[in-house]
Amino acid sequence: MLRFLTLILAVMHLQGCFDSSALAPIDASEELVVVTRNTPTTYFFEGDRASGFDYALAKQFARQHDMRLRVKVAFSLPELFEMLEQGEAHIAAAGLSKSTERDAQFHPSLPYLQQQALVVYKSGLLRPHALRDMVGRDLIVIAGSAHVESLAAMQSSLPELTWREIHAADSLELMQLVTDGKAELAIVDSIEFSIQQRLFPRVVAALELGEPAPLVWYLPGTPAGAKSKVLVDRFIKAAQKSGDIAQLERLHFGRFMHASRLGSLVFQRKVRDDLPVWQPLIETVATEYQMDWKLLAAISYQESHWDPVARSRTGVRGMMMLTQATASELGVDDRTDAAQSLRGGARFLKDLHRRLPPDIEEPDRTSMALAAYTIGMGHLEDARVLTERAGGDPHLWPDVRAHLPKLQNSSVYTTTRYGFAEGGQAVTYVDNIRHYEGILKLQSMPDQRISPPVEIHGLLPEHLRGASLPIL
Ligand code: GLU
Repeated sequence: MLRFLTLILAVMHLQGCFDSSALAPIDASEELVVVTRNTPTTYFFEGDRASGFDYALAKQFARQHDMRLRVKVAFSLPELFEMLEQGEAHIAAAGLSKSTERDAQFHPSLPYLQQQALVVYKSGLLRPHALRDMVGRDLIVIAGSAHVESLAAMQSSLPELTWREIHAADSLELMQLVTDGKAELAIVDSIEFSIQQRLFPRVVAALELGEPAPLVWYLPGTPAGAKSKVLVDRFIKAAQKSGDIAQLERLHFGRFMHASRLGSLVFQRKVRDDLPVWQPLIETVATEYQMDWKLLAAISYQESHWDPVARSRTGVRGMMMLTQATASELGVDDRTDAAQSLRGGARFLKDLHRRLPPDIEEPDRTSMALAAYTIGMGHLEDARVLTERAGGDPHLWPDVRAHLPKLQNSSVYTTTRYGFAEGGQAVTYVDNIRHYEGILKLQSMPDQRISPPVEIHGLLPEHLRGASLPIL
C-alpha cells in the first residue's frame, strides 16, 4: 500500500499535479496567476503595498475578469520562462521584450509599451561611439534576456564580440557592476535605465542597440495559452484606447523623465552623510502628520539641503524654509529649530492638501499640494484655470504642470486672478521633490535578490582573462 502511494505521489509530482496542471484555464479560473520579476519597473513593495507597472496592469485585467490576482516571483528570466513553460502561471508579465526566440515558444500578447535597449558605460571612462566599439570591452547583459538574442545576432557581423551573462532579475545589478568598475559596458532597457540612473548617476547611455522593442506579456504556447491570448489582447487594446495604459505609464514612469544626474549625485552623498542625523526626527514628524517620511525628507532636502539654519535672500529660514508670516501662522516661534520647522512645514502641506478640490486624486493631489506649497494656492488655482481653458484636465498634475510656466508670461498672467508667478520654478520644485522621494523609495526597497552567478559567453577580453570574476 505504501509503495503504491509512493508511486502515485511520484507520478503526480512528475505531472506537476501540485501546482502546474492544477491551474485552470483563465476563462474557467477564479484566480489569475501571474509570474513576474521583483524590479522597480514591474513589481515591488512600497511599505506593505504592492506596486509596479506590470503588477498594476495585471490587477486591472484580473479585476475586469472578476478574478483574484496571485503573483509569483521569478529570480531570473530563464526561471520565469521555465515557470511559464511548466504551466505554473497564466501570464508572464515582467517588462518582457518581444523576441523571435520567445515568440517561437510562447504566445506574445499585443504590445503595451515600447523600450529601447541602450549600451551604458561609466561617465569619465572610454565611451563607445558605435556598436563595433563594444568589441574587446567587458560587456555585461542579463542572462536569458532578449538582449542576448540581439548580441548573438550581431556576432555574424562582429565575430569578435564577447559578453558576460549575469544571472540577475533585472539590470540593477548591471548598473552596480558598471558603477563599481567591475564591468565596462552593459545593455540596459531605457525605462529601467531612466529609473535606475537615479541610484547609479555615474552610469550614462552611450548608444542605442537596435530598434525600440515592443513590451508584451507572454502566455504559454499551449491551446489554453492561445485562448488566454484572445482575452489578454482584447484587454490591452481597450486599455490603450481608453488611455489607461498611458495613465499607468505616467504614474509609474513619468516623473523620472526630468531628473538631473548631478542633482542625484549630490543627493546621494547627502543621504549617506547627513540623512542619518535627521531621519529619526523626520520619521517622528511624518508619523504625527500621517505622511510618508520619504516625502517629508525629500521636501526638507529640496528646501534647505537639511540645514536647520539655512537662510535665503528673501528672508525664508530653516529646515523647511518658512517665511516669517507663515511661521507665525503655524505657531513656529523659532524657525531654526528643526523639529518646529518640520512640524510647521508638514502642517502647512497637509492643510494645502486638504484644501484642494476633493476630486483630485493621488498622486496628482500631493504634486499639486507641493506646487501650492511653493507658489501659493492662488497661483496654483490660476494654473488649473489656464489648463482647463486650453482643453487640459485640471485634475491631472501633468496637465497643470504643462501650464504653470505660463504664469511668467505677461500675455497670460495679465488674464489670471493672481497674476505673475514663478511657474517654471514651481515645476522644477515639484519634479525635484518627486525625484528625491523616488530615490529614497528605491533605496528602501527590500533587497530580495541573490548574488548573481556569472556566465561567460565567448572569450573574455584579454585584460580580464584569468582575473577573478566580479560578483556583487
Ligand atoms: N526587457 C528585457 C527582456 O525582456 C529585460 C532585460 C532587462 O531587464 O534589462 O529580456
